[in-house]
Amino acid sequence: MSRYDLGRDDLAALLEDQPSYRASQVFDGFYRRLAEPGELTDLPRALRDRLEHMPEVASAFRCAAENVADRGATLKWLLETSDAKRIETVLMRYRDRTTVCVSSQAGCAMGCTFCATGDAGFGRQLSSGEILEQVVIAARRCRSEGWDPLGNVVLMGMGEPLANFEAVWTAVEVMNRDLGLAARHLTISTVGVVPGIRRLAGKKLQVNLAVSLHAANDLLRDQLVPLNRRYPLRMVMEACEEYRASSGRRISFEWACIEDVNDRPSDARELAALARPLAAHVNLIPLNPTPGGLSRGLRGSGRPRVLSLQAWLKEYGVNATIRQNRGRSIDAACGQLAASGAPVSVRRVPALDSR
Ligand code: SAH
Ligand code: SF4
Repeated sequence: MSRYDLGRDDLAALLEDQPSYRASQVFDGFYRRLAEPGELTDLPRALRDRLEHMPEVASAFRCAAENVADRGATLKWLLETSDAKRIETVLMRYRDRTTVCVSSQAGCAMGCTFCATGDAGFGRQLSSGEILEQVVIAARRCRSEGWDPLGNVVLMGMGEPLANFEAVWTAVEVMNRDLGLAARHLTISTVGVVPGIRRLAGKKLQVNLAVSLHAANDLLRDQLVPLNRRYPLRMVMEACEEYRASSGRRISFEWACIEDVNDRPSDARELAALARPLAAHVNLIPLNPTPGGLSRGLRGSGRPRVLSLQAWLKEYGVNATIRQNRGRSIDAACGQLAASGAPVSVRRVPALDSR
């Protein structure tokens, strides 16, 4: 649980002995000013002290480690919940753009063969407050570093967001309504949970959808992404079309480039055949090596091959961006730090220190 699991009504119930405007003050403090309880200086001292000691208002996390890469432009936190689950959150700055990548579950049950989170298995669902608090930690850090305010949130950390739909959607709505992040700056990444994509299509708030494809035929995708056996590509594509039609948003396909597995001319042709009708954009990401992936012989494509893949897609009329592998030196991708259990260098995190 996190203080960001508390909405206005919960705060009012918690402070029922107080004048009613106090709950609004606390709500504004947490959600608009991103304040910690001890920073609510507009409250009487005694009330502030009380809040600081209320378990309901505590932070959900202890910061187990902070790693820094890309000369300070990428920060990765390993956060530990009170029940000792470890998740990770990555804050990235690129010129004036700041993006936080948040986790939606502790671990993941989907078992993709190239993913460290998948190898580690499922821990538990995160609550909406635990998802939100990662965003708040990042937004506070942007502020304390003097960076531009946090601009984008991507649900691309640990876990499968659409397998935790209720909590994820509640968090997305609060990000939009209370933290002031526009829907077009919010992205949900899914491995292809078809019922979840359909539910998203029915929502008024239209966020960006990224679909982690990695293979454009069922034979290969069944191997890389076990969920494909339940929701094969045809179903995923139909759900994508539904989402595109209802939201008007461009869908993106994520493609982790794996040497000699999905980086051949035939892969580009098959991928283009799926992307073109949807006018989908492709993000090419060189595969990050993981122990599980390596044991199955999966290696990242070399730079020349990734460039070729991009050029072949272009010839087929599909635009692809090569995503920088941000934070590679600190395993800032996909559950690798939390899953590895490896020793990590620790630096104190101001955003969490004031607890
Ligand atoms: N479960 C969701 C979101 C979290 S994974 C999903 O799969 O979309 C976030 C992204 O990281 C996905 O696109 C996933 O395929 C990718 N990914 C996982 N392991 C990776 C690896 N070893 N190298 C590169 N990308 C990886
Ligand atoms: Fe889960 Fe996404 Fe990793 Fe697959 S790639 S195991 S869905 S986190």
